[in-house]
Amino acid sequence: TGALLTAGALRKTYGATLALDGADFGIHPGEVVAVMGPSGSGKSTLLHCLAGIVRPDSGEVRYRGRELSAMSDAERSALRRSDFGFVFQFGQLVPELTCVENVALPLRLSGVKRREAEARSTEWLDRLEVSDVAGKRPGEVSGGQGQRVAVARSLVTGPRVLFADEPTGALDSLNGERVMQLLTEAARDSRTAVVLVTHEPRVAAYSDREVVVRDGVARDMAGVA
Ligand code: ADP
Ligand code: ADP
Repeated sequence: TGALLTAGALRKTYGATLALDGADFGIHPGEVVAVMGPSGSGKSTLLHCLAGIVRPDSGEVRYRGRELSAMSDAERSALRRSDFGFVFQFGQLVPELTCVENVALPLRLSGVKRREAEARSTEWLDRLEVSDVAGKRPGEVSGGQGQRVAVARSLVTGPRVLFADEPTGALDSLNGERVMQLLTEAARDSRTAVVLVTHEPRVAAYSDREVVVRDGVARDMAGVA
């Protein structure tokens, strides 16, 4: 079906807690899918399984047809660095680095020279409308600015899938909506698929499609075929 990332019949328990109970999911290139549901329903666990951070007890996750659990840890880590991007609610910027150095970090770690890494990072800060904070440290910028820097950092490597877990959860609704606008615009321009975990309908409104998780069950008929 041309799906980029699919999951079928995912189960995951933590001790006696059944976090996922047969969840299905699928996403196509460039698609923005909101994963919705009440607190504790299994949204974050689903995202962590899709990203290869958490191994499901059973079921499978396939990225471009390859099963994540069949890869070695090193292969999965390499895939996460090259093809996946991540943005979370807060606490993701390195406090000792300036904002432009934070955005450049994943490029530097993958061997891009400082000058080029910072040039590309500056472009991304510009795109997220926070060029003015480039030389500041995260402690010196507002929550909304910091979150735009985090979005720039998550997209600077050109990921095929962006995993966003409550990316606007710490922002007021005006800032949150602007961050969502910029994030989804940038992702659509670069054909990056976005798995967006949120419990806020106003945030989910920026997606193409919604998948609801209830008690560990996600039924995504559009994605899995
Ligand atoms: P959501 O993201 O929808 O709030 P989660 O995926 O975080 O839901 O959690 C689903 C269920 O699994 C919850 O009952 C949660 O307490 C439990 N859970 C999640 N992660 C862990 C963990 N690392 N250890 C123990 N229980 C966990
Ligand atoms: P919440 O959904 O309440 O905002 P988080 O998104 O921080 O909480 O985490 C959701 C669940 O996933 C938590 O129960 C946590 O234990 C687990 N978790 C968070 N980060 C990781 C990680 N890097 N690896 C494995 N499990 C994680």
